[in-house]
Amino acid sequence: MTTTFKALRVSLDEQGKAQREIIARNIQDLPEGEVLVQVNYSALNYKDALSASGNKGVTRNYPHTPGIDAAGVVVESTNPQWKEGDKVIVTSYDLGMNTDGGFGGYIRVPGDWIVALPEGLSLRESMILGTGGFTAALGLWKMERIGQRPEMGPLVVTGASGGVGTMAVGIMAKAGYSVIAVTGTDAAHSMLQQLGASQIESRTFADDDSGKPLLRPKWAGGIDTVGGNTLATLLKACSREGSIASCGLVGSPKWDATVFPFILNGVNLLGIDSATIGMEVRQQVWEKLATDWRIENLESLATECSLEELEGYIQSILKGETQGRVLLRHA
Ligand code: NDP
Repeated sequence: MTTTFKALRVSLDEQGKAQREIIARNIQDLPEGEVLVQVNYSALNYKDALSASGNKGVTRNYPHTPGIDAAGVVVESTNPQWKEGDKVIVTSYDLGMNTDGGFGGYIRVPGDWIVALPEGLSLRESMILGTGGFTAALGLWKMERIGQRPEMGPLVVTGASGGVGTMAVGIMAKAGYSVIAVTGTDAAHSMLQQLGASQIESRTFADDDSGKPLLRPKWAGGIDTVGGNTLATLLKACSREGSIASCGLVGSPKWDATVFPFILNGVNLLGIDSATIGMEVRQQVWEKLATDWRIENLESLATECSLEELEGYIQSILKGETQGRVLLRHA
């Protein structure tokens, strides 16, 4: 077995500025764990770009290899649940945060961080979905668990051209919902239509500045990746008993709101934390992604890159300029 592999390594210089380089690493230098996985594919998430930029809120200890998503094949395992040759998905928990992640050709992780690749998805497709797709699907899974149904009306998705947003549009459309995609990226309109969005709106549509505590309903629920006033607007303009799943903060982590959507319209605010959700739900959500919620044209959402090409995409995701999912293919 090869003992060295390529990895993107991030270190901090004396000024605390992140320096990124591609290095050869030895398998023996990976953190302790039960299962060694050869990574075929990873993907770039906003959180990875933060980790790659020295963000201590995501990664406390450097040098570090980011990559919160990985899919590949088990090479060695001391955990009886996994054996050599198993095709697996590893996302969430501490992968890519303080545990070396999918931007390296191998990872070593505890067995209980691993999900078996569901039938109906390839390793490549599982990473086009990745944490973005899993988070979007977990949002819809939670919404449906408390009663969201297509007949209640359309769902809204904010940050619709991003990693979570594109997946949310595709999954919700596949699940039979009419979808309103809110985007600041004109170039993404045709991709969003292809994914099944029935209405495309600019960011102001979900950014109300009227000061009113409640608005005429515009949607029956939705997934918000933006936070701030956008999240407040989603709640104010949601019809009775609908659910808004909050998963992101690309606009702002802070928001100013009243309780009126909750106490007068019975609107539900759902928190989405894909990193720590339990294994039972995790497996159910991946199963949905491989079956009822399978996005048919997944390939068209992926921009594939090599480890050497990743740098440019890290810069663009930080500027909010990527569309869909950036798929990292290890040689
Ligand atoms: P991306 O950068 O891929 O997408 C974010 C999108 O938000 C952009 O494409 C853009 O879409 C929109 N956007 C960017 N900046 C702003 C702004 N200032 N105001 C309004 N809209 C903006 O990120 P991801 O999709 O990977 O992640 C989205 C968010 O979800 C992040 O905050 C991330 O940390 C979070 N996240 C949370 C998870 C969880 O478990 N809770 C898991 C995964 C991600 P457009 O131009 O179409 O409007």
